[in-house]
Amino acid sequence: MSFKERLLGIRRRRASMKVQIEPGNVIMEKVLMGEKLKFSDRVKAIFREDWEHIVVVSLVGVTHTYRGISNAVKRMWCPEGEFEILDFTNGFFGVLFPSAEEEDKALNGGPWFVGPQCLSVQRWIPVFRGSTATVNTVVTWIRLPNLPVEYYHEIALFSIGNFVSRTLKIDEKTLNADRGKFVRVAVELNLNEPLTPSFQIEDRWQVVDYEGLPVICYNCGCVGHGSILCTSESRNQPETEAQAGKTDE
Ligand SMILES: [Zn+2]
Repeated sequence: MSFKERLLGIRRRRASMKVQIEPGNVIMEKVLMGEKLKFSDRVKAIFREDWEHIVVVSLVGVTHTYRGISNAVKRMWCPEGEFEILDFTNGFFGVLFPSAEEEDKALNGGPWFVGPQCLSVQRWIPVFRGSTATVNTVVTWIRLPNLPVEYYHEIALFSIGNFVSRTLKIDEKTLNADRGKFVRVAVELNLNEPLTPSFQIEDRWQVVDYEGLPVICYNCGCVGHGSILCTSESRNQPETEAQAGKTDE
């Protein structure tokens, strides 16, 4: 069933229910500079029913064409292509999946990538507007170059992921030590908070690399500018030592 058919199906069922506009469902009010139209919670819930199964996807820090996102998402989640994508503008796209299982897989099965870029996947929220929306959270892999091997343990890696942000899972190949020095932990990041470029484990500085994100500032931890362009006061991190750890990777 296509997106349009599914939406039309929902709307036809609704039409047959004959929604009654009762007093108090639509309210007009005078406000300082003019007039205001308001809807009751019951009516708003009806408006939102169409959208509550929409999953909003966006790349972090870069925009992509409709066709590019659409092809990538179809390849990744739905090889039979049984869904359609809406362009919410400003790099945000809405996806309606044919089944709850596919919807759940997209929302909870990440990290997801389109080429090298990390894809943010979130539920639609009321009053969502692509034009003013920002990517607030994203699931990605963190890598821990040159982590001492005794920390290749589930408890250590979960604790490190939670220290950096919030651990979702550990790369199986990391746990099986298949990758040798290459340690990966999937975390959910809050992009409104500065990221942690490095931190101390016991007495040693450890660098954190974030997969699929645009440039990260090693001074303030924000996404979108390098440390040379940073205007924040230093967080007093021994940057040279941390970055030295990175170069001998
Ligand atoms: Zn900065």
